[in-house]
Amino acid sequence: MQKKDQAICLRTVAYSDTSQIAVFFTETEGKISAIAKGSRRPKNPFDGPIEVFSYGTIVYAPGRQEGLAVLAEFAQQPLFLGLRRRLETLNAALPAAELTEKLTQPQDPHPRLFEGLRQFLLDVQEAADARQIRIRLIVYQMLLLAEIGLAPVMDRCVNGPHPFGRHWKWIYFSSHQNGLLCPDCEGAFAEKKRISPAAAAALADLKRLKNADEKTIQEIENLLLYHFRELTGRPLKSKPD
Ligand SMILES: [Zn+2]
Repeated sequence: MQKKDQAICLRTVAYSDTSQIAVFFTETEGKISAIAKGSRRPKNPFDGPIEVFSYGTIVYAPGRQEGLAVLAEFAQQPLFLGLRRRLETLNAALPAAELTEKLTQPQDPHPRLFEGLRQFLLDVQEAADARQIRIRLIVYQMLLLAEIGLAPVMDRCVNGPHPFGRHWKWIYFSSHQNGLLCPDCEGAFAEKKRISPAAAAALADLKRLKNADEKTIQEIENLLLYHFRELTGRPLKSKPD
């Protein structure tokens, strides 16, 4: 039986001279991979070529178990054509797509994350400046972590009932422990990265990002790159560090 869904394309791979495999993030079914037969022909049933950030309504026949679905139709809406206008925009949108693909499981529904990604892409497309774009990527990355059940613990030490506060003389973040380590506990953990009080506070309360200085924003970006590299086992293709 065919299914119909809203979808954002996260990635495509050429499958033959005329076809592609497209990885879609869908509103109701989460991530699916579908073969789009004939999509690379000039005349095709998918409203033109399919590429990352192609958006619209797909109709597809689901694959067996986790096999490839077969794309039947793709009614594309030109929602994200502006993403390529600015390099800063694309430099935020591409890692968001890559991380969403890497960290979600096939056919694992995440409707709130779908809406979060859609809104994120609209926001970075319209954002006034590079700083806004970078802040939105940080917020989306934190949403992604929360939605896959990996929200980092930022209000206390992950190793005990030790609330985070000004009395902490230094602060570490551990990717493997998924949160803060207090000065009394950090010595027991090898994998960790020291972070500033400002970065920890902004990650604990994302509303603070809008007042964070450039140094703190950069520190958080680097921390997230580090964290996602630890989580996925490799650096991001779209944002090598
Ligand atoms: Zn502790």
